[in-house]
Amino acid sequence: MNKQNNNLIETYVPQNEIIFSPIGGVGQIGMNFYLYGTQGKWVIVDLGITFGNAEETPGIDIILPNPEFVKKNKKNLLGIVITHAHEDHIGAVGHLWPQLQCPVFATPFASAVLRRKLKELKIKPKFLKTIGLDSNFKLGPFAIDVISTTHSIPEPNALGINTKFGSILHTGDWKIDPKPLVGKNFNQEKMKSFGKKGVLAIVSDSTNSNVEGHSGSEEKLRESLIKIIKKTSNRIAITSFSSNLARLETFAHIAKESGRVAALCGRSLWTMYKAAMDTGYLKNIKPFLDEREIMIYPKDQVLLICTGSQGEPRAALSRIASDNHQNIFLEANDTVIFSSKVIPGNERAITKVQNELKEKNINVVTESDEFVHVSGHPHVEELKKMYNWIKPEIVIPVHGEYHMLKSNVEIARKCGVKKGLILKNGLLLKVAPGEPKVLGSIASGRLMLDGKRIIPINEEAIKNRKKMLYNGTILISLLMNKTNKLISKPVISSKGFFNNENIKIYEKNLLSNINPFIKELGNKNFIDDLLKEKIKSFTHRFFRKALDMKPVVQIHIIKT
Ligand SMILES: [Zn+2]
Repeated sequence: MNKQNNNLIETYVPQNEIIFSPIGGVGQIGMNFYLYGTQGKWVIVDLGITFGNAEETPGIDIILPNPEFVKKNKKNLLGIVITHAHEDHIGAVGHLWPQLQCPVFATPFASAVLRRKLKELKIKPKFLKTIGLDSNFKLGPFAIDVISTTHSIPEPNALGINTKFGSILHTGDWKIDPKPLVGKNFNQEKMKSFGKKGVLAIVSDSTNSNVEGHSGSEEKLRESLIKIIKKTSNRIAITSFSSNLARLETFAHIAKESGRVAALCGRSLWTMYKAAMDTGYLKNIKPFLDEREIMIYPKDQVLLICTGSQGEPRAALSRIASDNHQNIFLEANDTVIFSSKVIPGNERAITKVQNELKEKNINVVTESDEFVHVSGHPHVEELKKMYNWIKPEIVIPVHGEYHMLKSNVEIARKCGVKKGLILKNGLLLKVAPGEPKVLGSIASGRLMLDGKRIIPINEEAIKNRKKMLYNGTILISLLMNKTNKLISKPVISSKGFFNNENIKIYEKNLLSNINPFIKELGNKNFIDDLLKEKIKSFTHRFFRKALDMKPVVQIHIIKT
């Protein structure tokens, strides 16, 4: 019944057991995609994307998880349950749904966001089922308790997943915010009573498991931002994640408190603002201005809310920083506030934007200068609280790099959780009954979105792209006759070198060495290949010594 190929499990029908597999989301922040199985059926929790970046995946913007296993087992798939509306949890639904064709369950705000995204992709949202906050519902052999938590977006939900063989708490992304400002409070009562029923395992957010204390409240942040804005003159631009509606509401409040007018700059801010209005959030704030209407106001009355907190090159803030924005510009003594954290991998892009601003004598304020951001993920004290409420037998840390997963397990152990299982993406785990056991691997990995096509990422091609980006390329063409004599001077072209002087020296060196190389090889067989190898290692040696670089070397020999 269960099929295995190339050491990969291709099809599997869960028996009288609970199966769990992170297809994406472990060892990384992003691309959340989890699979639960019991009594012949599967349920997916979240289906997110991750963003490419110039260092890791040059030229690729959106990365999707691999749905191959679920596709092959879709006759037993009951649906996708969404925990919340962040891109790394819902971003792949529209792109992968055509291959999966199953119902999607989400609370009202995530439904509204999904509906807009599906419309852009021209997919009819008939399969989208809206579920109530703090509701309970059945999906085949699964009984699911939706539990409201708090995070950095409205309506984050933990899922209590109950089966005949035990219950698992899937925390989703969460924190304990006593005053989240927008959306419901953390439903501690429901969480605690879920814990009291006896919980087999917790699948637990690890993002801030290395950070002591408590993540802090949006309310305290609002007070701090108001103080900062009040003492700042000239124009202010502020950037944060578009989906953080509490932060957006805060920006509207501080505009009002400080006598400024707020405008939204960037498409994703408008998408989120409209989804918020559709679902009854942000009703009590003054409507935001369009970016085309704001620059006529005196400098001291301007608050620009911009996309681009992660240095995304096409976002509003990057374009403003490089003077390429159609409607907005900033000048010396204006201020830009990054009300956000640096997501690992985006350091270079963010620094680039900040440098461009500083060059123009624009003040840049980040969370290392002032209290301008609170995280949406639990710090150590909040994790402890959760483990004490839930008292699971097993902790399975997700949503984090390896060191974060490890710290999360250590915290759980200190709270009396007996087992910690650090998984890898694609492992299929039998959680119960009996001892937890890895049954094997299923397809995982990354796919890229190339226009409208979804194609596997060619890891080798990416490696080459990265190499070319940082080490340059040397292309050498040799014209030789049949008796292996050079007919003309080698043609050398290069890319990615800042100083042509070195290329000239290299050219000179190669010219004086090439004839001895050919002579040395004499009339050996495969002289073309041998000569290419020789030139390649000569070139690598030269550039290592001269510039400490290892360029990509391509050699063409044309025989006449
Ligand atoms: Zn999130």
